[in-house]
Amino acid sequence: SLLSKEDVLEKAKEYDVKFIRLQFTDILGSFKNIAITIEELERALNGGIMFDNAVIEGFAQSKQSDIYLCPDPETFVIFPWRPRNGAVARLICDVYGSDGEPFSACPRSVLKRVLLEAERLGYGLRSGAEIEFFMFYMDDQGKPTTVTHDQAGYCDLTPVDLGENARRDMVLTLESMGFEISSSHHEVSAGQHEISLKESDALSMADNLATFKFVVRTIAQRHGLHASFMPKPLAGFNGSGLHLHHSLWKEGENAFHAPSHANCQQLSKTAYYYMGGLLEHARALTAITNPLINSYKRLGLDLAAPVLAGWSEQNRSTMIRVPSQRESGTRIVLRSPDGTCNPYLAMAVTLKAGLVGIISKIKPPAAMEENNLHGGLGKIIKNYGLPSNLNEALCALSANEVIKETLGEQIYSRFIETKEEECKRFNTIIHPWEIEEYLRNY
Ligand code: GLU
Ligand code: MG
Repeated sequence: SLLSKEDVLEKAKEYDVKFIRLQFTDILGSFKNIAITIEELERALNGGIMFDNAVIEGFAQSKQSDIYLCPDPETFVIFPWRPRNGAVARLICDVYGSDGEPFSACPRSVLKRVLLEAERLGYGLRSGAEIEFFMFYMDDQGKPTTVTHDQAGYCDLTPVDLGENARRDMVLTLESMGFEISSSHHEVSAGQHEISLKESDALSMADNLATFKFVVRTIAQRHGLHASFMPKPLAGFNGSGLHLHHSLWKEGENAFHAPSHANCQQLSKTAYYYMGGLLEHARALTAITNPLINSYKRLGLDLAAPVLAGWSEQNRSTMIRVPSQRESGTRIVLRSPDGTCNPYLAMAVTLKAGLVGIISKIKPPAAMEENNLHGGLGKIIKNYGLPSNLNEALCALSANEVIKETLGEQIYSRFIETKEEECKRFNTIIHPWEIEEYLRNY
């Protein structure tokens, strides 16, 4: 749906829209919004809404204080769960400075910049996504617990599963907002679900991922549940990942497929180099794709989450998996990201790393299938392990010029500062495990 400004004005009138939320994300990926009324829509569409950036994470540090929201008309959607009369709609915005240049702390502009670089090389990125999350009960005060609907529901007399119902409602709502859902199912852990989004161009996917989280939480709430994208809420159980499918397209053809190459995997050199770039920069970009202290409790052995900066066809311990589909379905699946990342920044740094791989012809290491890990997993992890905690990832990020250039000075340094602060705060806390383990014995 290629909507113009005029289409948006027309649709807003037709559907009796009263309020429009202008959405954008801060550097950590939380949706922020400013609500305007229908009377201001035309001015907004012309890029005329100025706002105070002082309270937005990563924005306030900028010297620019007058910043403008420029809505992308193609992102116009009416919220289906709000009233029909006096409806509420949203527009996703790019943030601009008063000089007319993209604002330095606008994550969506960062992604657009990398997409333009890809375009100059003749490539367009298409991306699909599998998003995992838990649904938990809330307590009497409305605070989320870690009790899942599966456990709590098992002795209920009604045959209705609260979680399955909520998920169906989510899928229907997302579809009515224009999302294309390829599947939805219950995941491995009790209370864990997955919804997969069909592939689309990378900018729409990033917009959709940002929107997805907010829709899923809203609908869960309406079912008395809390949806959480926290990567590892329950020790000993599968965590939740955000698996991103990537394929590059050139002149209408999938550039990852190589029919003519005498190569049994039928993967093009482009695909190999793309993986090479991703793997070369894996440790640094993990800070962006896995930004929480908790993210690293998911990236462990055993529970189908990756630990290796490698690729394979079968081994779920590698960061990249190459599914068996070929021809137009040829793609790589990035298994390491989790749903707490800023989707714009995650998409931007992974694409950039892949492009650098293509430009510099970076060869990836050999496929790491389970049966060819010579020297054992221990040795492989030593050489190819993903960061084992957020601090390690931040160290790698601090030393990475490619990602620095991709994110721009402001987002790069502000992200590192904010996250180092988070690690410091964590380290001042005495955790229950320490009391349990040490108090009596020492
Ligand atoms: N939950 C796993 C993860 O943390 C993935 C399971 C799957 O392969 O779907 O990434
Ligand atoms: Mg899954």
